[in-house]
Amino acid sequence: MAAYSATQPLRLLKFERRALGPKDVAIQLHYCGICHSDIHHGREHWRQEPFPLVPGHELAGVVVAVGSSASRFKVGDRVGVGCMVNSCRHCSMCNVGLEQYCENGATFTYGSKDRDGTLTQGGYSTLNVVDEDFVIRVPDAIDLADAGPLMCAGITVYSPLRRWSVGPGKRVGVVGLGGLGHMAVKIAKAMGAEVTVLTTSPDKVADALRFGARDVIVNPDSADLSRHKRSLDFILDTAPYKHKLDRLFTLLKQDATFCMVGAGKVSEPYEIGPFSLLAARNSYASSQIGGIRETQELVDFCALHGIRPETSRIAMNEISAAWDRVVDKKARYRYVVDMKA
Ligand code: NAP
Ligand code: ZN
Ligand code: ZN
Repeated sequence: MAAYSATQPLRLLKFERRALGPKDVAIQLHYCGICHSDIHHGREHWRQEPFPLVPGHELAGVVVAVGSSASRFKVGDRVGVGCMVNSCRHCSMCNVGLEQYCENGATFTYGSKDRDGTLTQGGYSTLNVVDEDFVIRVPDAIDLADAGPLMCAGITVYSPLRRWSVGPGKRVGVVGLGGLGHMAVKIAKAMGAEVTVLTTSPDKVADALRFGARDVIVNPDSADLSRHKRSLDFILDTAPYKHKLDRLFTLLKQDATFCMVGAGKVSEPYEIGPFSLLAARNSYASSQIGGIRETQELVDFCALHGIRPETSRIAMNEISAAWDRVVDKKARYRYVVDMKA
């Protein structure tokens, strides 16, 4: 299913994947999660897109063919693919497993120029051909239908939670209880932290507590936050559109970091007041997905701790309607396209 413009519903696109290269694996896709980034791309919130564009970067499926020199996977293996399908492999970032920050530009799963010059197309499709170095193994404990959302939503929150040393004794704020946010609550909880959810949806309070939050703040744009002032060691903000940040910074303890992983419209930049961070020497940070090694680590962490996304399965022809529901904050909490439905 492809976006043909920023305003029309998605429609079918027939196209061919590249021939299997020596290090490629061909993956029959069973499921693909719907990330809000798919909508940002499809509706041109970030840039002009190379339509027709097949979105989807939370792929889960089964290996159906392996290239002549591919050695990591065999036919029948259960695998996933996230936001990246290649990178330069020799820059300082690639060398330390941070391919998402490749100095020569990572190749993203869709809408990206592949190493052979062709345009990549994503996971709202039935088959993909991917270099095995960018394929993630799905452990037996994880159902394939749950694997896709780990490949983007899961790793995008896991990486900053690790980087800013979230663990026992730490108090973490999660802004936005959506696809990323609900995974952040579960993962931070499993890391041993105490989680406070900040949500604009009063009807998500019970779910937030069920996912492991200790505390919930409803409508942070207008709520009285004085009770929570300087109470958090780290805040992870997953909200996808412009919202008030200065109020959120008052929740940070001295020297604590606020990390933005939500990425809104480029036409509506966030505002940060001149005094909002200096009052407690706070830092404003950001983070982009995670490297391949760390993505495998996250998937294994979820298998070990029994962490799964909350999903609703839909058919290919329901994707456009699901996009609208995601924007309306009605997803609970990740739509997953079932290719067989
Ligand atoms: P999502 O499932 O739609 O969840 C976002 C949540 O944010 C919503 O459920 C809602 O939670 C809250 N929200 C929605 N609209 C809002 C608004 N206008 N103002 C304030 N809060 C709002 O989206 P997602 O898939 O988790 O993605 C979230 C963001 O992360 C997107 O911008 C996406 O592009 C970005 N992203 C970034 C990376 C990265 O590498 N940094 C990777 C993946 C995704 P409540 O109902 O609880 O308020
Ligand atoms: Zn994503
Ligand atoms: Zn590189």
